[in-house]
Amino acid sequence: MNNWFSESTLNDTVRSSFKYKALIHESQSDFQRIRIYDTYSLGRLLVLDDSAMISDKDEFIYHEVITHIPILVQEQTKNVLIIGGGDGGAIRELVKYKSIKSIELVEIDSAVVDISREFFPHVASGLNDQRVKIHYTDGVEFINNCEKKYDLIIVDSTDPIGPAVGLYEKKFYEVCREHLNENGIFMAQTETPLFDEYSISSIYDKLNETFPIVETICAPMLIYPGVYWTFSFCSLTEGITSFKENKLCEYGEFSSKLKWHNLDWHKSCFKLSNLFSASIDYKSSL
Ligand code: SAM
Repeated sequence: MNNWFSESTLNDTVRSSFKYKALIHESQSDFQRIRIYDTYSLGRLLVLDDSAMISDKDEFIYHEVITHIPILVQEQTKNVLIIGGGDGGAIRELVKYKSIKSIELVEIDSAVVDISREFFPHVASGLNDQRVKIHYTDGVEFINNCEKKYDLIIVDSTDPIGPAVGLYEKKFYEVCREHLNENGIFMAQTETPLFDEYSISSIYDKLNETFPIVETICAPMLIYPGVYWTFSFCSLTEGITSFKENKLCEYGEFSSKLKWHNLDWHKSCFKLSNLFSASIDYKSSL
């Protein structure tokens, strides 16, 4: 038997593969095929359609990056909106800050939340926090009909195909900007420049046309083809990247337990290598 899970790039010229001991869950939700493998090298691996989402081995990197970076530089983070993120990993990090009053999660597929609770309890652990409210609906629809503003909006979505396409459109970014408070921050996963399956330059063009400040942060994600992963940090205010004392106090209470994020890494994370600058026009530079 061929016990390998493989994820191909869109043009099917590259595959990243992980050998598994068993397929421990398989189901079809209204939106996607959901599978969980027990792998040799990653622990459990959640796959939606044919894309790897999270693994026991490296989920903390993604979730610590997408949350602690914006929170530590923001004077006040009272309310947070997460679009996607049904595994609960970003919420697990957010609930560590007692100063956050409300966290809304907008996940299109309730099955992802249920399955994460059952198979990844250490990732989903924050979902029962009293400050968390889950809306099972499409993120684009939610923000278009939303009357509230947020201090922080995090887009923790799948790749720009299927139900997530609208989460990478300029109109969506513009509506998110309108739903940010004055010192609000918009944070999103923005794919990889290396295999550049989804034209990272077009994603960044749209962000740059929408937000006055757009920074890029890179971190490794073992399970995604390309590994070298980017996150965008967008804000309405300049000079917002310095740490805020009140946040450092809260962070100090749990920071020794974090597995990726620390203040030294954070200080340097906005600095980019030549590769990334080149990748903005990566295809034509090959
Ligand atoms: N870290 C992961 C990655 O980049 O592969 C993403 C994890 S999280 C499981 C992504 C979630 O986004 C999925 O559960 C999916 O159902 C949800 N999602 C996709 N499109 C969405 C939409 N339009 N509105 C709300 N949630 C959406």
